[in-house]
Amino acid sequence: MTDNVRPLVTDLSRSALANWCEAFGQPAYRADQIRRWFFGKRVDNFDAMHDVPARLRLALNEEFDFFASRIVDHQVATDRTEKLLLELRDGQTVECVLMRETRRRTVCISTQVGCAMGCVFCASGLEGLKRNLSVGEILEQILRIDRLLPENDRITNVVVMGIGEPLHNLGNLLPAVDTLSDKGGLGLGARRITISTVGLPEKIRELAQHGKPYNLAVSLHAPNDKLRTEIVPVNANIGVDAILEAADEYFERTGRRVTYEYVLLGNVNDHPAHARELASLLKMRNAHVNLIPMNLVDGLPFSDPSTPRTDEFVQTLQQGGVNVTVRKRKGADIDAACGQLRLAHEQTQPTI
Ligand code: SAH
Repeated sequence: MTDNVRPLVTDLSRSALANWCEAFGQPAYRADQIRRWFFGKRVDNFDAMHDVPARLRLALNEEFDFFASRIVDHQVATDRTEKLLLELRDGQTVECVLMRETRRRTVCISTQVGCAMGCVFCASGLEGLKRNLSVGEILEQILRIDRLLPENDRITNVVVMGIGEPLHNLGNLLPAVDTLSDKGGLGLGARRITISTVGLPEKIRELAQHGKPYNLAVSLHAPNDKLRTEIVPVNANIGVDAILEAADEYFERTGRRVTYEYVLLGNVNDHPAHARELASLLKMRNAHVNLIPMNLVDGLPFSDPSTPRTDEFVQTLQQGGVNVTVRKRKGADIDAACGQLRLAHEQTQPTI
């Protein structure tokens, strides 16, 4: 473990990097040159930035770290889903995942080390929240995953569905995702980026006011407060109505249809009556439901739903007038469910 707290070059926005170049007596456009090297040309150090003057490269080396992590585990599933476990400068670890579909290359990123939300079926929060990730640490996951792709292949989508509650670290998440579409970035606009939240109404409003059309996914998981509070404990102080209201405002303001995620836990929230209740909440809304069959987590007393139960849930929602898909399972033969690889790693580390 080190106490190295130098800023990362990726902590800086495009304009902050331009200001830094100018303070060094260099033109602002050097910032775009530098950004193109680490985003577009996938180098992993300042010395490789050939068109950046040597003096400026020296100053970059003195002032910034290039990467904050080292790869401590890299798993590849039979469906070519890949997962990286990154160890940060303070010894904490985070995960990020590459998922391949015909035309999409999606990276799933984490926003926190651990999570404070405590959803009872989720591996990420089992040991609580350790800390927020910085802007650069969030971006670095995308850069690391991008570097796994062949030269002519590019990340097409980002989902903020890894470890942590993204809206609990909105102050660092927004600069990280905003910079992707700035000049010299990866050319990924807000419509290619999905932010998944446990449902924090004030933060959903803040995101709407930010004004960029990010896709919003809300983890509902239950159609009423009694059940939702059992499986998503933070719901006790929030409530389903307040979440739906904030999500409606998000849609009105950004024009982006909201997705509701619903983890199907065998015999807990997968009954047809739950589907009917969910349909009555959502049928008048321009919403989409994404059903996620529970990924089993060692030590947690939940099971995945049976296939007939899942099918019935889908049909009931459709009959109730709700648009629904079932999430395809990716990386089933690696520890791809949120937080599982990190947890496995933590549990095999000697405690000092
Ligand atoms: N904190 C954010 C991001 C979490 S991960 C949120 O709550 O949305 C993205 C999704 O995966 C969430 O819907 C989360 O509830 C779900 N998830 C977590 N653990 C899971 C598991 N074991 N099986 C299936 N889905 C899970």
